[in-house]
Amino acid sequence: ASAAHAEAAEEPASTRRKSRRKKAMIAVVGRPNVGKSTIANRLTQNFHEGGLVFNEAGVTRDRTYGEGFWGGHEFTVVDTGGIVFDDKEGEVFLPQIRQQAMLGIAEASSVLLVVDGQTGKTVLDEQISAFLRRQKVPVVLAVNKCESTVDGAMQAADFWSLGLGNPFPVSGLHGTGMGDVMDELIKPLPPPPEEGEGYDDATDELRVALLGRPNVGKSSLLNKLTGTERSIVSDEAGTTRDAIDQTVYNHGTKFTFVDTAGVRRAAKVRKGIEELMVRRSLKAGKRSDVCLLVIDATEGVSEQESRLARFIVESGRACVVLINKWDLVPNKDDALYRTSKKYLQKRLPQIAWAKSLYVSAKTGLRTSDVFDACREAAAQHRRRVSTAVMNEILEDGVRWQKPPATSTGRQGNIYYCAQVAKQPPTIAIFCNDPELFTGTYRRYLESHFRKALSFEGSPIRLLWRGRP
Ligand code: GDP
Ligand code: GDP
Repeated sequence: ASAAHAEAAEEPASTRRKSRRKKAMIAVVGRPNVGKSTIANRLTQNFHEGGLVFNEAGVTRDRTYGEGFWGGHEFTVVDTGGIVFDDKEGEVFLPQIRQQAMLGIAEASSVLLVVDGQTGKTVLDEQISAFLRRQKVPVVLAVNKCESTVDGAMQAADFWSLGLGNPFPVSGLHGTGMGDVMDELIKPLPPPPEEGEGYDDATDELRVALLGRPNVGKSSLLNKLTGTERSIVSDEAGTTRDAIDQTVYNHGTKFTFVDTAGVRRAAKVRKGIEELMVRRSLKAGKRSDVCLLVIDATEGVSEQESRLARFIVESGRACVVLINKWDLVPNKDDALYRTSKKYLQKRLPQIAWAKSLYVSAKTGLRTSDVFDACREAAAQHRRRVSTAVMNEILEDGVRWQKPPATSTGRQGNIYYCAQVAKQPPTIAIFCNDPELFTGTYRRYLESHFRKALSFEGSPIRLLWRGRP
């Protein structure tokens, strides 16, 4: 029977896509504590929290990977931090560690060497540089912890002698200088694919988390969605032993339900440790692409749901709202749907962009629609809009409502914008000074972009950048 299950869970050959362009890899190297992971996070999150960074249990150490997006390029960032040149235990050049480093670097299209501008050049920096100069890979040198622009330039100059070209002063902490570094890093990358060609970024694979209070029906929904025979259960490497993921295929998409053990346990514990279970679902949410926020139709929205909605926005996840136990609601008519939609918009304004489905885990009402809703939300989450279109929308928005002048009479000016990240879509707005733009105006522009582009199912972010 188990073989049959495994076979059923395998992806049908007919739905396999032709292989597409593999993403280029950018490796981040450097000695410990210079800020490699801080910078790797910047590269993958495009100056904002909430990027997807995940661990692969490596041979020697964990390597951390994340997805980056800059100037039309998509790439994978590998933080070789745990493997390369780790002198913490005096094993800097142990042959097998060196081999790991070489492998990481051999795979990379470009390498970012991070050094610490505050401590200055060290022997280890020189050793790593010497090693990198012997490789055939383009290297960009980032001098981190240069918070002050004046001292930063001085601190950076100290690293010319590493022989790796122009040292770029940056602050991983503040994000300053990172734009120039990104520009350099993508130079050696092959040109981005044409419209429609796309990268091979596993759009056929979705990680889904079921979030909600105990008793709303998460466990029942999970049973309905995964069926009983068509699913495989697997331990996820690198997580606690009882974080069990369950995978099913639906029309060629691989759906992995994250931490189903947590969901099932929640069903058993009932009252008392609600707080603990909510925290566990937040953890699952962080490992997912799409969060299914489950609400009990007979109970409505509570503080816990608001909190979960806030979490979804803050962590930048796509979302579908499931109003479960719809079978228990009497006299369902159009008016009731409308009232219910209004109620949701009012009680959960943070995720007003999310689609809501009225379902019943008990009767199976609309549960099959959940897969499509996830696919659609994930597609919006990964959507990229051209700079031309973005700027047309921006111009339109500014024409309708000009940025207000401050009390001191200074006028905010917006120059242009660009989508600098996906998952979630992130729009950088370049202006004379971000401080001149009030919360009201920022909210206005966000809702303007939202109206123009919809992005249903996905949060969007606006980053306000001043002139350097
Ligand atoms: P890694 O070991 O190279 O991955 O370094 P981490 O990213 O873990 O950072 C090491 C330490 O440096 C942490 O305490 C960070 O907060 C700090 N750090 C990272 N980037 C900066 C920066 O730009 N400026 C300052 N002042 N500190 C930073
Ligand atoms: P969890 O704690 O969120 O995982 O919730 P469960 O899946 O354990 O469900 C809690 C209770 O609600 C159980 O008694 C379920 O049988 C019941 N339940 C779940 N979904 C539905 C539904 O769609 N309709 C009805 N009538 N009951 C449901």
